[in-house]
Amino acid sequence: MIIKEVYVKTILSKSKVSDYTINPYIGCEHGCTYCYARFMKRFTGHREKWGRFVDVKVNAARLLQHELKKKRSGRVWISGVCDPYQPIEKKYALTRRCLKILSEHGWPITVQTKSPLVKRDLGLLEKFNDIEVGLTITTADDAIRKMFEPKCSPIKDRIETLETLHSAGVKTYAMIAPLLPKAETLVTQLSEKADYVLIDRMNYHYADWVYRKYGLEYAMTNDFFTWKKMELAKALEKEAMPYQLLF
Ligand code: SF4
Repeated sequence: MIIKEVYVKTILSKSKVSDYTINPYIGCEHGCTYCYARFMKRFTGHREKWGRFVDVKVNAARLLQHELKKKRSGRVWISGVCDPYQPIEKKYALTRRCLKILSEHGWPITVQTKSPLVKRDLGLLEKFNDIEVGLTITTADDAIRKMFEPKCSPIKDRIETLETLHSAGVKTYAMIAPLLPKAETLVTQLSEKADYVLIDRMNYHYADWVYRKYGLEYAMTNDFFTWKKMELAKALEKEAMPYQLLF
């Protein structure tokens, strides 16, 4: 893993998904096979494989302190093109430092991760008036997870993380995206741990080779996504869990 400390010029960026987004890191140690954020390589001149480099924005917190004074308050999505709780966060705590500043200024936030490390900051998360924390969970089957996201935490750890946050009163959601095989049994496991569920299909072709390698081509088809979407929706309605279909 190539880790480099860098100084950036801005940290709070406009976002199409939320009002703003903060990415404390460039690159992501999780290196998911399907990750769309690998486009960042083009903008940052990285030639390494996606998942093999991380640039640490060491001046992120100082910049944020400054930028918050100049911008109108809005919801901040953390993060759009990296996991804010990837392993390097244990050492640098950039996400934690940015959250602390956002909480002091009372800005609303949405945190999205695949990592139980988010629990480290529970005390801080509880201080926000307007917060939601999402765990991305793409399948209920850890064998499938290992094919597509081998460096991410096991599914049971993500569900347990949702439970911890939810029990503490933090609003939570589960992002079933991209919808991988064997996601259908997630619903009963998410009940009373996630306030709502988002569902999206695989929208990119980076992981086509994984489907082929493991004989899962059936799960790349429109029919598969439509069928599984309806199956999940039905199960969520049965559990009276709010959900949003993104395709
Ligand atoms: S955790 Fe998210 S940002 Fe990181 S590699 Fe996986 S999909 Fe990409």
